[in-house]
Amino acid sequence: MKRSILLVLAALLLSLPLLAQPKIVAHRGFWRTAGSAQNSIAAVQKAAELGIYGSEFDVWITADGVPVVFHDAVWDGMRIEDSKYTDLMNKRLGNGEFLPTLQQYLQYFAKTPYIRLIFEIKTHKTPERNRAVTEMGVKLVRELGLENRTDYIAFSKYVCEVLHEITPKSNIAYLSGDLSPQKIKEMGISGIDYNHKVFIEHPNWAKQAKALGLEVNVWTVDGEEDLKKFAAMPGIDLITTNDPDKLKDILEKK
Ligand code: MG
Repeated sequence: MKRSILLVLAALLLSLPLLAQPKIVAHRGFWRTAGSAQNSIAAVQKAAELGIYGSEFDVWITADGVPVVFHDAVWDGMRIEDSKYTDLMNKRLGNGEFLPTLQQYLQYFAKTPYIRLIFEIKTHKTPERNRAVTEMGVKLVRELGLENRTDYIAFSKYVCEVLHEITPKSNIAYLSGDLSPQKIKEMGISGIDYNHKVFIEHPNWAKQAKALGLEVNVWTVDGEEDLKKFAAMPGIDLITTNDPDKLKDILEKK
């Protein structure tokens, strides 16, 4: 009898990670709100005010080697990685902020102790530039004392490998969705961060990843119906969304 109770308890404990609620990551910050814009400093501030787990942002380096926070490869006809920082610095985001450098952005994070950084390194033209942006990013994170609060994500397998080499204790997740959880485990990085369609196409990957001890993030899940679907999916640790406020409401009502 006692043994069967212990077995039930053990089964419950083992299933807890699968039952836990997912954490909320604001995609490019919380920008679908007044006064905000994608990848702006206001978007981090508004994500922090929501009291959610993390805020994601995208990083490029300019032609002259300045890391900046922006999503698109091309802005008003100017390719970020081919442009000088001085030619970009006076451009404004949708909420009137100037394009933030990574240093300015991280300095703001350092003053905001309640939110985790989900740092996406964009894929640049050459391996040399991919290594350069990765090394500069990790160095700045360390200099500002943010190492324990920063997770890294990248579409480039090479960038994930460089991250694993230079900051092996950090959470590092691969974004492209074309590698199985087993392959990710073999690379030695800590997680998958895949498009929502990948988890529909491979319905066992979230659970397989958990069984391998990987962290599972899904992007970009928007709208009430999809948010509810992924909030209920076993094995999902984090949901990256443009609607962090909606997801927060859904999870609070559960
Ligand atoms: Mg991104």
